[in-house]
Amino acid sequence: MASVKEEDILVRDESFVKYERLLTKAETEGRIDGPNKCLVCGMRYSTKGDADTCCKINP
Ligand SMILES: [Zn+2]
Repeated sequence: MASVKEEDILVRDESFVKYERLLTKAETEGRIDGPNKCLVCGMRYSTKGDADTCCKINP
């Protein structure tokens, strides 16, 4: 079923892994790519509450 070959994952160079780690860290902190998106500016957050209050005028 898996379409990604194991070799493709293993050949990722160190800088890419480092970049991935930074991305993961940012995701964990809810800075980017969270599942919840602010409907006004499109910024993504890890929690719906953060997304809702992002551009809210009256919190
Ligand atoms: Zn926003």
